[in-house]
Amino acid sequence: MQALADPITLIHGIAMLALIALTYGFMARTVSSVLSRGVAVGLTFGLGAVSTMADPIVMQQGVIIDARGVILTLAGPFGGAVAAAIAAACAIAYRLWLGGVGAPVGCITILVGALVGVLFACCVPLRQGAYSLRQLAALAVFGSLHGFTVLLVLMIIPVPGLVGSLIPLCVLNFAGVVVLGSFLSEEGRRRHATRLLEKEAATDALTGLPNRRKFDAAGLALVRGARETDRAVALLMIDLDHFKRINDRWGHDVGDRVLRKVAAVIASEIRDVDLAARYGGEEIAVLLPDASVVDALAVSERIRRAVSANVHNMRAGALGVTVSIGVASRSGDSLSFSELFSEADRALYDAKRQGRDRSVVAPDSGAASESAGTICCETANP
Ligand code: GH3
Ligand code: MG
Ligand code: MG
Repeated sequence: MQALADPITLIHGIAMLALIALTYGFMARTVSSVLSRGVAVGLTFGLGAVSTMADPIVMQQGVIIDARGVILTLAGPFGGAVAAAIAAACAIAYRLWLGGVGAPVGCITILVGALVGVLFACCVPLRQGAYSLRQLAALAVFGSLHGFTVLLVLMIIPVPGLVGSLIPLCVLNFAGVVVLGSFLSEEGRRRHATRLLEKEAATDALTGLPNRRKFDAAGLALVRGARETDRAVALLMIDLDHFKRINDRWGHDVGDRVLRKVAAVIASEIRDVDLAARYGGEEIAVLLPDASVVDALAVSERIRRAVSANVHNMRAGALGVTVSIGVASRSGDSLSFSELFSEADRALYDAKRQGRDRSVVAPDSGAASESAGTICCETANP
């Protein structure tokens, strides 16, 4: 094959495919918005297609082949429709700039390649960021077929040897789609695994809530932002009452179930912008952005009532489950995450001391508010 007689072109082609795979992996890891990622991947694939078109394999006088079909076919499956459209636009712009009688057919070939990829992506979505080898082989077959559109050029001008170049073009497309597709799948798999690990590292395994590490990082960032914009941040420190008794009497399994249920009730009582996290053994902390002490106390009471109404320790005749809650809210220069936390913790301690099953507002919280120092409770555990 001519390509073997032109090893530099072949090496350029392989290096280009590897570069695209690396850049794709980088984009996938660093660009979080779907649209921006589509644009970035589209530009990467588009530039890749242009560079292969700039360095084609010359089969004979007037007949050249290149790997644009490979790259365009893969743009849709790995980058989405936006990426495919941008990659195709780059390749078409370059093909038109090259000019010649074959330009319209060249543009059609590019469009067909990109369209095949997008249609495939609609029918076969990525799983865990990757395609299996069998799926890539199927895509490669369809991707190779688009090469037949070059025959349209024969309607404009007779090109001897064009039909003969179809076999090497199909082989190149098939092998290219499988090889580059495997590289991209590997990158996708790695990104998926990394995301999973990051999520696990930030999640409490028992309750599914974010863990303390995630809470501290989010709390520091939230407080920093709130100070800059002079907004309030509130924190609730929630602790199950006499939880040890449940464990001692019914066993850890029941204790675990109670903990999970309490976490679910709390999560259902807060807004999407709020953050509830398992902070310690049977302690759950909740961050409430833009919440004054009055708002925070209202949320705290809502949570307290919902827990006592909905959580029982799952045995007939057993005691209901209640929580005590420390409430703190601050804004302006006095706002600091560690201070907010200590205040809520001290208020929780007061709630325990005063009989449990209640919300207590930290005395320093929202000094201007009438609610500071308020104790809310309906029923207290003996
Ligand atoms: P108080 O009302 O003063 O908070 O009493 P308490 O019994 O809830 O508090 P204490 O600190 O005495 O006991 C907390 C218990 O929580 C002890 C510990 O075994 C239990 N615990 C901590 N984490 C878990 C967990 O993941 N599962 C279960 N089942 N129990 C846990
Ligand atoms: Mg407790
Ligand atoms: Mg505790």
